[in-house]
Parts: sequence; C-alpha cells; structure tokens
Amino acid sequence: MKRSVLICLFSCLLLIAFYHDSFGQPSLVHEIAPGVFVRLAEPEKKIIANAGWVVFRDYVLVIDANYPWGARAILADLRKTTNKPVRFAFDTHYHADHSFGNSVFVDAGATIVCSQDCTEESKRKNPTAWNKDKGTGEFDLKQWRLEHPQASFPDRMTFDDGEHRVELTRVGPAHTLGDAVAYLPKERILFTGDLCVTSAANNLADPDANPENWVKTLDGLERMNVATLIPGHGPIGNRDSIQPQRKYLAAMIEGVKTGIQKGQSADEVAQSLDLTGYHPHGDKAAGNQVSIKAVYAKLKH
Ligand SMILES: [Zn+2]
Repeated sequence: MKRSVLICLFSCLLLIAFYHDSFGQPSLVHEIAPGVFVRLAEPEKKIIANAGWVVFRDYVLVIDANYPWGARAILADLRKTTNKPVRFAFDTHYHADHSFGNSVFVDAGATIVCSQDCTEESKRKNPTAWNKDKGTGEFDLKQWRLEHPQASFPDRMTFDDGEHRVELTRVGPAHTLGDAVAYLPKERILFTGDLCVTSAANNLADPDANPENWVKTLDGLERMNVATLIPGHGPIGNRDSIQPQRKYLAAMIEGVKTGIQKGQSADEVAQSLDLTGYHPHGDKAAGNQVSIKAVYAKLKH
C-alpha cells in the first residue's frame, strides 16, 4: 500500500474517532480547543440547537441555553469536563430553542447574559410563546419557569481572564432584532447562533427579522478571522459555511423582489420561487415557502 494511502487511511480513522464515541455512536460533545466545548443538538430529544461552553480559570460561560431539558443535558455533559461553577450563560438570541432553558442555568448559579435588544425581545415576546407552547410529557414547559436575561450589553461584552477571551458582539437585526455572536479571537472560534446554520433549519419568520441586514451581517462575519464556526443548527463548520447561508438568503430576497415587481402575491411567489438547489439551507421546500412569505411581507411595504 502506498504511503500516501496509508496516511489518508490514518487521517480518516482519526476523524472517525473524533466524531464517534467508544460505542461507535456519533459523539455529541467536542473539545474544539483546550477548554472550549461544543455540544451538538439531538433533534430526536427536542434538543434542537447546538450549545457550547468555555472553561475559564475560575468559572464556566455557557453559550446558548437551549430548552430546559436540553439545558439539563448540557449541564450533565459539562460536569464531565469541569467542576468549576457555571457563572454565566449567554443567549445568542431570544428564541425558545436557545433561551427557554435559562432557568436551569440560573438555578445552577448562573447569570443570563444577552444583548439589550435580545432582553427586550425576551420580555416582549417570550411570555406569549411560552404560554402557547403545546409540549406534552417531558417536553411540557409547565414543569419549568421562564427566565429573562439579567445582564445586558448594548454592543459588546468581553470576558477575559488571560487564559480565554470571549467577545460577545451584538450584530443584529438579522435573524432577530437582538442577535449577538460569541467570538474567541485566540482560537478563531465563532458561535453564530442562527445567523448561520449548516442544515435546512432556517427561520426568517421572526417579526423583527431583517433579511437584507442579515446578508450584510454575514458579510461582516465573513471578514472576521474565523477557523471554526459553530452554527445554531447543523454540523460544526468553518468560515466557508457562511457563503452558502448568504447565497440562500440573497436568492430568496432577490426572488421575492422580482415577484413583487411582477405584481405576484405572496402565495404565487412562494409557489414559483424554487430554492431547493441551495443545499442544505433550501432543502425543505415547505420551510422555504414559509420564509418566502415572511420576507414578502417585510419587503412589500
Ligand atoms: Zn432562532
């Protein structure tokens, strides 16, 4: 066997070992840099969003609080990596799958952090969303309580203990009004929340979403020095994960604008504008149609 083939085989085995546990199951938790962890989503357990945590010298900062049952799972996995106190949990935005687990982290001693606009959105929109939730059994929110963020920043908040530096930067309005990202400049790691996903889980239906500014926001993220990108949903990516997201959004905006110019209704645009070629973002035609109608409503006036 040629040496190059052997090297390739060895690299593949290493990769497989990295992404699978000792039972051959895809592993959920990845230490992507010393003290920086990602826990991937488990959609079948309604743990839809990815999450992460950074182990500082004296405390832990969690990134995205997930649903309450997801927060429990994150805490359990986090405890396998460190016994330091969880002092902060950062919500990239107020959506349920990223923030409804806040109370679990508050009860563990953490302060919930997000941008000022994210806090405002949580207070304005989350009580209704929480009360309308139809979850049953283990996914019944009545067993839990809604906690809004308690510490907010207008533009930026930085955690830096000399070992780790995490910059939280408000970059919305885009997916929501108060979107913010977490960036680790030393490790070149970016947690984007739902501004960038690497799956078909796109959502442009938030009443405060701003599709055109979302494209500009992605341009800004692409200019950052990013080696590893943790999307809100989907597998771990890198800087190259941003362009496919941008192209999908730009094609949707362009198609909707053209439809409006032709005098088409929202339904007509949703039926005729085919975005399924934009993999993976446009994979689900039904989801595309919901987003197209939402973008149409925003661009029509
Ligand atoms: Zn979201």
